[in-house]
Amino acid sequence: MQRSFKTPFCLILLSICLVSLKSISAQLPTGWKAHDLNRPAPVVVTPAMKAGGPPSDAIILFDGKDLSHWQNRNGQQARWKIKDGAMESVPNSGFLVSKESFGDCQLHVEFASPKTVKGSGQGRGNSGVFLMGAFEIQVLDSYQNATYPDGSAGSIYGQHPPLVNASGKPGEWQTFDIIFRRPRFSPDGQCQSLPRFTVFHNGVLVQESSEAVGPTRWIQHGELRSLKKTTKGPVQLQDHGNPVRYRNIWIRPLVETPQQPKNPYDPVTIELLEMDARKLVGQYGGTPITYRNGKLFLGFAGSQLELVPHSKTQFGFTKSAGSVQFTTNEQGVGKSLEIKLDAAGTREENRKQPK
Ligand code: MG
Repeated sequence: MQRSFKTPFCLILLSICLVSLKSISAQLPTGWKAHDLNRPAPVVVTPAMKAGGPPSDAIILFDGKDLSHWQNRNGQQARWKIKDGAMESVPNSGFLVSKESFGDCQLHVEFASPKTVKGSGQGRGNSGVFLMGAFEIQVLDSYQNATYPDGSAGSIYGQHPPLVNASGKPGEWQTFDIIFRRPRFSPDGQCQSLPRFTVFHNGVLVQESSEAVGPTRWIQHGELRSLKKTTKGPVQLQDHGNPVRYRNIWIRPLVETPQQPKNPYDPVTIELLEMDARKLVGQYGGTPITYRNGKLFLGFAGSQLELVPHSKTQFGFTKSAGSVQFTTNEQGVGKSLEIKLDAAGTREENRKQPK
């Protein structure tokens, strides 16, 4: 009886210790420790030599030649016209819809409102760039053209005015550079994060991580939950009855789920007794090992790095990738140590004054 009681009790106690020690071994919010060479290297992307040009991994949606990447909302041939390397919205021809769909992305669009000014407010040079076919970044001739702020050029229509009015003059080519993160939903349909937009208009920041509460509608917002099963949607260009032109449109799908470490850090974490820890304290060449508040620390490059015990002689670091391996005598007293830090290579030190 006594034994059957003690065994589960010990297991529970051990579990608590391990959980406690693991929580000490905190990593970065990304799941990685600092300077881990196993972390995937950034993919090489060759930037365009000309400002605004497509980088090497971009999908070209319009290069001035044809509408092969586009259709209308019914899936039929688009009726916008192409002239002088640009495409122009033909009034009442309907939205232009990309054939391909996208989620998180970086989108570059160049546009020009008509040089000859006609109309005012929302009736002047109105078009729009829709992400996921749902959220409009407003295109409008906002050069000396008063309208409601959340409907001016660079607004998330009906929700967020641009931070500033960076509009060019009528007829001038202008740019939008849009970074879009789509909404996220849990399996039961609860919204976990709203769609997010960062937008540069002619190189000027006009939206910074702005969150949309729902798809764009006139007068009122749409319901975000209508997108709860949608992870991708087309880019759409609005036909609002004004002959707005577009050119040089490219898009880069963004990584939606950054890669996590394949193996967990510090898989074998033990409880190090104080008597064992103190046997490792000392000066190892230029590297001090100290003990305080129940923890071992390694002095390195001006920092005190907490050591996470994997065994009595093998340690990791709480926030940085790497390890420390001690060699000891038969009594467990430290003789030398080997430090492996991805950012600084490997270094071995012998203890100067063993205690
Ligand atoms: Mg519009």
